[in-house]
Amino acid sequence: MDKLLFGTAGIPNKTNPRTYENAFDDLVEMKLGCMEIEFVRGVNMNAKTIPVVKQISQEKGLILTAHGPYFINLASPEQDKVDASVKRILDTARVAYACGGYSITFHAAFYMGQDKKFVHNQVKSKMTEIISTLKSENIKIWVRPELTGKASQWGDLDELIQLSNEVEMVLPCIDFAHLHARSGGNWNTYDEFARVFERMGNEIGQHALENFHAHIAGIEYTAKGERKHLNLEESDLKYKELMKAFKDFNVKGTIICESPDIEDDAILLQKTYKALK
Ligand SMILES: [Zn+2]
Repeated sequence: MDKLLFGTAGIPNKTNPRTYENAFDDLVEMKLGCMEIEFVRGVNMNAKTIPVVKQISQEKGLILTAHGPYFINLASPEQDKVDASVKRILDTARVAYACGGYSITFHAAFYMGQDKKFVHNQVKSKMTEIISTLKSENIKIWVRPELTGKASQWGDLDELIQLSNEVEMVLPCIDFAHLHARSGGNWNTYDEFARVFERMGNEIGQHALENFHAHIAGIEYTAKGERKHLNLEESDLKYKELMKAFKDFNVKGTIICESPDIEDDAILLQKTYKALK
């Protein structure tokens, strides 16, 4: 990726009627550069829609990413749930790739009282299998477990960096709201944001900073982690410092805004970033 793009988690709120085609028109009009297709309740795109989404998004120069279903747990003790999770991730990747997509993200697993290391190894083993299936189908897309918002979920920064080094085609989706909420309020200063980029560049490699995918939103949280998303100005997230760190580390890729006002906050982030020298 040669620049940093900003966009919405799903079709913009104002888009009406709510088609992908209208969404892409609105994104272009708002000068946003990307959109995440939300498959959070299932990978449900009509087969006829897929080539249209690909063609129109490419004509308009928009980058697409996708968010997989919430019902995913690669470390479930129940085998049928693991199998269904693998299929949901594969289907997300297949449809996103057919749409011309750049990357997919999903919440990979819950600890459910199991040992953290055991859960990591389960995730690693299933992700290895998923990548090998995608390669056999000639599907080339970044597969990104998301940095999750609760301490009960697999997917902290260490685990994501480790998995990115263990399985090819895997890079993190860094959700800065989750990172902040998960720790009960840390990870909210310039130095802490800079540490995320330093670690990814040093421990994964420069390509991780040139193909970055982030989720950003305001967030309400308790000691246990995330509670709900908020608009940036109603939250304590230091988004200006975050944008400065993105700029200073020359990070390229896609930033998806998940605030309730998805498009207004995506525009605010982009404006803040572009005003930086
Ligand atoms: Zn997510």
